[in-house]
Amino acid sequence: MRVFVTGGAGFIGSEYVRAMLAGAYPGYEDAEVTVFDLLTYAGNTANLPMDHERLTFVQGDIRDGAALERALPGHEVVVHFAAESHVDRSVAGAEPFVSTNVLGTQQLLDHSLRAGVGTVLCVSTDEVYGSIESGSWDENEPLLPNSPYSASKAGSDLMARAFWRTHKLDVRITRCSNNYGPYQNIEKLIPLFITNLLAGKPVGLYGDGGNVREWLHVSDHCAALQRVLTDGEPGEVYNIGSGVEVTNRSIAERLVQLCDADPGLIRYVEDRKGHDLRYSLDFGKITKLGFTPAIDFEQGLADTVRWYRDHPSWWSSDS
Ligand code: NAD
Repeated sequence: MRVFVTGGAGFIGSEYVRAMLAGAYPGYEDAEVTVFDLLTYAGNTANLPMDHERLTFVQGDIRDGAALERALPGHEVVVHFAAESHVDRSVAGAEPFVSTNVLGTQQLLDHSLRAGVGTVLCVSTDEVYGSIESGSWDENEPLLPNSPYSASKAGSDLMARAFWRTHKLDVRITRCSNNYGPYQNIEKLIPLFITNLLAGKPVGLYGDGGNVREWLHVSDHCAALQRVLTDGEPGEVYNIGSGVEVTNRSIAERLVQLCDADPGLIRYVEDRKGHDLRYSLDFGKITKLGFTPAIDFEQGLADTVRWYRDHPSWWSSDS
């Protein structure tokens, strides 16, 4: 089995690759893994066991058809993580998001079709559904994205669906809630707050801090992706969630405690433009495939704080 992982040097993709190479996924213990990653600011080869005998690393851009044509043939499976992923950056400038997340996905799908890839798993986000005040979204909800990031991911999802409907390419789409865990770029909320608090620096909460996110540990997300790959159906969409809904204010307060920091370091800053109030997934469909989150949120958060505390050289430019 040869597995082609786009964006495999990023936060979630590298967790997936490390787990697969460590033999965590039944039936894939001998899989040969190709990581295809542009190494943007978010990609880091230090996240990967680069000298592993079953890992091949290719620095490449999913928008580059010729590079895909060279690298893709011979792979049975594509797991597509590569994306511009930070909402704040998409507010500052949408162009790279449309370019990589929409056009890049289209190139990848085109070349997967030509190369005869068996299955393409497209990793997407709950943010494509928009914002919900009460209740939870199932997979049949309309896509109502509010940020340029989520709009570009919705474009990616719709292109994937079109390749299934038009070409019968076996494409599966997953939409996951917010992830946390080790190796996440420190621009994102949890690692940003941890690393600031450990350094005694203030952390800024948007608005009144009442925005609600549903948190899932990255290793649970990857286990769910593997479940969709092995037991899911072509052309289907699967929500991946945890049911753990927490306000950003509560996250900040827990992290203050876990980092032994001064509560006065929590500051309130002007809200993000178009800030979604709440995300909440109905993930009953994937539980029918046998998925349930394994990592308790309180334990996972404490372990994540410990990881950043123990790995300052990974995240700090001056240590
Ligand atoms: P990340 O920003 O940490 O990593 C993205 C990776 O993609 C990086 O290694 C980067 O170098 C690579 N990349 C970017 N543009 C590329 C291009 N044009 N060609 C090839 N490689 C490119 O992102 P992440 O948090 O690991 O997210 C991975 C996927 O999961 C994304 O598609 C994201 O939308 C989705 N997702 C993330 C979350 C979350 O909470 N982080 C939740 C749900 C879904």
